[in-house]
Amino acid sequence: MKKTIKDYDLKGKRVIIRCDFNVPIKDGVITDDNRIIASLKTINYALDNGAKVILMSHLGRIKSEEDKMKNSLKVVADRLSEFLNKEVIFIPETRGSKLENAVKNLKEGEVILIENTRFEDFPQKRESGNDPKLAKYWANLGDIFINDAFGTSHRMHASNVGIGRLLPNGVGFLVEKEIKMIGEVIKNPNRPFIVILGGAKVSDKIGVIKNLVNIADYILIGGGMAYTFLCAKGLEVGRSIVDKDSIDFCKEIMEKYSEKIILPVDVVCGKEIDENTQTTLRLVEEIENSEMGLDIGPKTVELFKKYLENCKTVVWNGPVGVFEIEKFSHGTKALADILANQNITTIIGGGDTAAAVIQMGYKDSYTHISTGGGASLEMLEGKILPGIDVINER
Ligand code: ADP
Ligand code: MG
Repeated sequence: MKKTIKDYDLKGKRVIIRCDFNVPIKDGVITDDNRIIASLKTINYALDNGAKVILMSHLGRIKSEEDKMKNSLKVVADRLSEFLNKEVIFIPETRGSKLENAVKNLKEGEVILIENTRFEDFPQKRESGNDPKLAKYWANLGDIFINDAFGTSHRMHASNVGIGRLLPNGVGFLVEKEIKMIGEVIKNPNRPFIVILGGAKVSDKIGVIKNLVNIADYILIGGGMAYTFLCAKGLEVGRSIVDKDSIDFCKEIMEKYSEKIILPVDVVCGKEIDENTQTTLRLVEEIENSEMGLDIGPKTVELFKKYLENCKTVVWNGPVGVFEIEKFSHGTKALADILANQNITTIIGGGDTAAAVIQMGYKDSYTHISTGGGASLEMLEGKILPGIDVINER
């Protein structure tokens, strides 16, 4: 068990909380504030317990001065203030006297947000390169370090691993929940345990397949990656997305785990990935040369449903169709609906999968929707995440 924020007496302490405020912003407006909402529990806990709260986060990638203009965390400070119902003092720098004075003057129950940690990535990659001097400077601002940024836990950066090594540390509620939900479920799932895998490419998910095929009772495969598997079985898949380099891998997996891998039997095809393209429903043996498979069909939904109705745990990563286009979103929607109506443990991992189910109205329908895209994938791969590894055991 990792140490958590609850293991510390926070009163009067300067508590640095590394959050994941890496939210999508369009024309200066936050378009999805789920990540801010997900961080509130830990921040409120610290404030309620008399901490002097110092928040840090990255936002986007910074490779030029212009990137800095577009990626200030000021908008996040404003939105966060509304949620906390209290002023969030925004510090428009990542180092310097303004920051040092603000920390010096910070009182119990007050909160500051430091500017985007990745401003330290230009001109030199100090944040992403885990520069020890920068980590030391930041660590000096606090007494306790809490990692609640699950979305960056697969990175070894100054603002998570760097500071974490130098201060008494713990995880926040969000990271604690992610470790519990993803980490422990795949270690010891209630069975039958089914994994649904989709998304665009097999090559993105090889690590996940390799790890989960040993643990799962069945893997239901949809999305773009299904066509590489179908191709490996010798079928013609037209212009569907195929990962040529992964065909041998698919063959091996299907040979070794023939009873575990369940592939689509019908698919919705189109000539273009476009709203206006005409769709045809095909059995997988009947995809025409000019077509692309862009969603699973109703027979496949029924097939998958039989497995899902009889299981106790599901991990789902990867939309089973091009859900961004309404015509090709029905398979993903159908699976989301089946899972929402079952009383089982359902874990949703992956950035696009989480976005898809939330957009379809299933935000509160599952045991857990991971807040980390890449981080949740690495956890499903069975990897140790540096941002979690740095936190001490209880
Ligand atoms: P996640 O972010 O949840 O890990 P991925 O990034 O692997 O998921 O995959 C999501 C993408 O996969 C979506 O943009 C979706 O349009 C695409 N996709 C799903 N099915 C297909 C398909 N049949 N052909 C092409 N792309 C697909
Ligand atoms: Mg993705």
